[in-house]
Amino acid sequence: MKEDILHNLEIINNRIKNACKKAGRKPDEVKLLLATKTVSAERIKVAIENGQVLIAENKVQELKEKYEELKDIPHINHFIGHLQTNKIKDILKYEVMCVQSLDRLDLAEKLHQRLLAENKTIEVLIQVNTSNEESKFGVDPKNAIELTKKVAEFSTLNIKGLMTIGLFSAETEKVRKCFKILKNIQQEIILENIPNIEMKELSMGMSGDLETAIEEGSTIVRVGTAVFGTRIYPDSYYWNEKN
Ligand SMILES: *Cc1c(COP(=O)(O)O)cnc(C)c1O
Repeated sequence: MKEDILHNLEIINNRIKNACKKAGRKPDEVKLLLATKTVSAERIKVAIENGQVLIAENKVQELKEKYEELKDIPHINHFIGHLQTNKIKDILKYEVMCVQSLDRLDLAEKLHQRLLAENKTIEVLIQVNTSNEESKFGVDPKNAIELTKKVAEFSTLNIKGLMTIGLFSAETEKVRKCFKILKNIQQEIILENIPNIEMKELSMGMSGDLETAIEEGSTIVRVGTAVFGTRIYPDSYYWNEKN
């Protein structure tokens, strides 16, 4: 088990390095985030103990279940799933540093209220639905700037950039279009000069499309399958409101 994970990590790091080279970028411009849904704490531990820092769950329940076993090994937790407002308390309790899936104003408002009460702040990325699929979360691209402006007004929410899940398609150019949309929104937001935000991070690219994402400017690639193997649940289980 350990050998598999280490071997896969090596392959992924090489893929990132090669994609950066091809795109004329420095490899340290792109962070590897491990998407750990369905992966046991024991397996996650192997990755963290071997140099990985950044991990992320999709469901608060899994964050909670693995918390005890991982809390004493230094790492950083992001959250990349659909966040229900009644789970906000847990996000803070289990020390999530960045919510990458901020996609609506009422979530921002409630997160802000809770953070104020606890005298804390949190990093956020605005999740944009660039593939125009109803099954995926994220703000509509045409409303992304407006949402960013409103979220920027909450003193406890530190906007660091944008996140998207690209279209699932074997056609690279269709996937690329999603990443280009995110990049364009980033550029438009930068021109707006919104106070108190950063727009450095573009979280895009997964096991199957990270090369394309890196070519289009990704700074965080979120990888699950290519490191930990295939999952028993289809991704729709995590990405669909009905679950
Ligand atoms: C599962 C997941 C990933 C990683 O997907 P893989 O194809 O397994 O690399 C990335 N982002 C999100 C939001 C996910 O839910």
